[in-house]
Amino acid sequence: MLVRRIRIRRRLLRAVLWLPRGVTRLRLSPRLRAASGFAISLLVHTALLVVLGLLLVWQEMQGAHGITVLPFVEDIGPEPFVEELCIQTIALPTDALGAAARDAAETQLPNAPNIPAPSPHLLAGPGLPEPAAGPQRFTAYDLLAASDVPGGGGFEGRTTSARARLVGQRGGTPASEDAVARGLAWLAAHQRSDGSWRFDHRDSACGGLCRDPGTVGSTTAATGLALLPFLGAGEIGEGCQYQRVVDDGLYYLCSRLLITPLGGDLQEGTMYAQGIAAIALCEAYAMSRDESLRAPAQLAIDFICRAQHEAGGWRYFPGQPGDTTVLGWQLMALKSARLAGLDVPSDVFTRVGQFLDSVQREEGAVYGYQKPDKAPVPTAVGLLGRMYLGWPREDSRLARGVGYLDRLGPSRTDMYFNYYATQVLHHYEGSGWDAWNAALRDRLIATQSRRGHEHGSWHFHDEHGKSGGRLYTTAMCVMILEVYYRHMPLYGRRAVQEDL
Ligand SMILES: [Zn+2]
Repeated sequence: MLVRRIRIRRRLLRAVLWLPRGVTRLRLSPRLRAASGFAISLLVHTALLVVLGLLLVWQEMQGAHGITVLPFVEDIGPEPFVEELCIQTIALPTDALGAAARDAAETQLPNAPNIPAPSPHLLAGPGLPEPAAGPQRFTAYDLLAASDVPGGGGFEGRTTSARARLVGQRGGTPASEDAVARGLAWLAAHQRSDGSWRFDHRDSACGGLCRDPGTVGSTTAATGLALLPFLGAGEIGEGCQYQRVVDDGLYYLCSRLLITPLGGDLQEGTMYAQGIAAIALCEAYAMSRDESLRAPAQLAIDFICRAQHEAGGWRYFPGQPGDTTVLGWQLMALKSARLAGLDVPSDVFTRVGQFLDSVQREEGAVYGYQKPDKAPVPTAVGLLGRMYLGWPREDSRLARGVGYLDRLGPSRTDMYFNYYATQVLHHYEGSGWDAWNAALRDRLIATQSRRGHEHGSWHFHDEHGKSGGRLYTTAMCVMILEVYYRHMPLYGRRAVQEDL
């Protein structure tokens, strides 16, 4: 885990400063590499003594008191020592880092693009929570305290014991949990050796044994979407069945983060990928408290905040007037960021509400894509958004909108609609939930493939299934079957809390 974290940090440093591969390694000559630890230690300590001496002389001249204690490095081997120096470079004060970046930009490293302005979120600046002492499992309900967005929706139900209870209480079955397990196994078997996933799942160990490859090219969207079902099942950290799978996927996402003036760009195509990958990073950070994930998650969220259109929405590209479906992924990323204790300006949420106002009909009971309308998917996304933004369960507009979804019933093929509508009905806990859940849950269990390499996967012939392929469909179906514990209930969570 330490080595992996160091690798991520090295990749991060390269990404932050746009350095070509290998620049962050200290370039030692073969003779020096062969030298004894004593020689290296002697060089280091001589340099430190010279620096200390100069500091003392300077302080004598300035009349200052006290000496800054430098890190003691004797017991650290050459490679980690180099890495620690690199990390300390990141931890410089804002002005110093900005100056260093400008100097490096003027130097124009060979084959390196211009270096953009560094993000202030790489630094532990004011307004950001103090880093945890080290990686740790989250504690139930601690995360909710970090959010000023009303309601629950947190990740506490993903622990083994909470998950088992919530499955039984909220409509899951042993068969649905078995289906989740088979789905995760299929996803893990279709991860590429670099930790990524592709919507064209044949580009993995599968080699074409499974049918129905997708056509969308974004590797960040595919990798983020494939990671979410693992995180939904609490699969992160040491001792988990898919620890290596999840670590490799997160490492891949971090390595694809591009630092831009807007923040950390994970689009590889559109803002869909940005939102999906950002959710994965924020959930992983919230659950693991692994500090190597904090900066990438914050940068990805910064990008989303700055890409928001002035009217409150998001569309395919930053700054475009929004549509409801793209907004859905961004809002879930922002909510996950708040749960993780990351920095999200409150006015971003305010503008999300204003966008939803602009596409609603029937006073907010139903929604359209880009204009006021009454359409199934936008209504499911819009109502879930309203729930996360704080509409109380007693709101009559919510009741009418949920009634509309309930009358539509779960789709036989459209898992995009089912994914959002199922969350709405699950959180609402209305009279229609039991019938909706039983119908969709049992259909998913019945339609999961048991055929050869496709065993554990799903595919339905519809618009999204065609572009996202078997990978998209499987990830969505697993998350639908994780609905009982993937997010804590937004209403009535006190009763659940007492029971956990
Ligand atoms: Zn396959």
